[in-house]
Amino acid sequence: MIQLYIPLNFLGVIYREIKQSLADMERLFSLLEQEREIDDTPGAKPLAIHGAEVRFEHVDFSYEKNRQILFDVDFTIAAGATTAVVGHSGSGKSTLGRLLFRFYDVQKGRITIDGQDLRDVTQASLRQAIGIVPQDTVLFNDTIEYNIAYGKPGASKDQIIAAARAASIHDFIVSLPDGYDTMVGERGLKLSGGEKQRVAIARTLLKNPAILIFDEATSALDSRSEQAIQAQLKEIAKDRTTLVIAHRLSTIADAAQILVMDHGRIVERGTHASLLAADGLYAQMWIRQQARKISEDEPSQDDADI
Ligand code: ATP
Repeated sequence: MIQLYIPLNFLGVIYREIKQSLADMERLFSLLEQEREIDDTPGAKPLAIHGAEVRFEHVDFSYEKNRQILFDVDFTIAAGATTAVVGHSGSGKSTLGRLLFRFYDVQKGRITIDGQDLRDVTQASLRQAIGIVPQDTVLFNDTIEYNIAYGKPGASKDQIIAAARAASIHDFIVSLPDGYDTMVGERGLKLSGGEKQRVAIARTLLKNPAILIFDEATSALDSRSEQAIQAQLKEIAKDRTTLVIAHRLSTIADAAQILVMDHGRIVERGTHASLLAADGLYAQMWIRQQARKISEDEPSQDDADI
């Protein structure tokens, strides 16, 4: 009994940590059904996707009593469009992603996909419809092929290679001595942050979800890697409803809609051009980041804290 209890408790700790970082939620849910905090509502139906319009309607949310985190958050991501969220650290950006994946239920208002309240659909169907490219992908101690194929159990080798090519990681993989059979993860080959993110992108391409949550890495990438990741993001976001949790403004300038969060509220919204013209918080953040870029010539760790 004790032996059984300890590992489960240990997994619980890991679960909570990973849940916090938005990393690899899909994997964890399959491993840890018993850890779910939220149950399907009796009579919940599978989510029916018709374009995947996402709506947050006047959402209030707190993790804990007496500390409200989101206040009247209200926005729509049109079917197939991209919305990026920016704001200072702690303003509530990642919380939006956690709520869309229904890690937690909102206290006021509602979140819908194609008009269906998340609380009325089965979680299995919800999580099937959403792909997440996390900041820091946790790889399985298995082959790189397995790690990509995880996005779609039963995928053929051709499909895996096509996804790896689209994520610009195929050439890297075939350059390794064991190719697609190379062991990765903690006990295998250590991949760089950018390589791990490409594995996550390949996995997501295989899964082919209607909705995508892209949690941009906070750690600085060199400008070449950043450009490559941006090109891939564009590729996977094409025709998918996408929520980008952004840490660098330069990466989201062409999003259809940018939401600026401050202390749990959306304080500005618009396109990059309209927000600059409005000369508010976004414009200040932009000027500060540009000044930093010029002085350092490369993105820095500080850029994460816009
Ligand atoms: P960053 O840019 O640093 O990732 P963020 O804008 O994504 O920040 P969130 O992670 O959404 O911010 O957090 C918003 C607020 O909610 C923070 O004040 C944070 O301390 C709090 N918070 C986040 N997760 C929890 C949790 N599990 N329990 C209690 N409070 C939490």
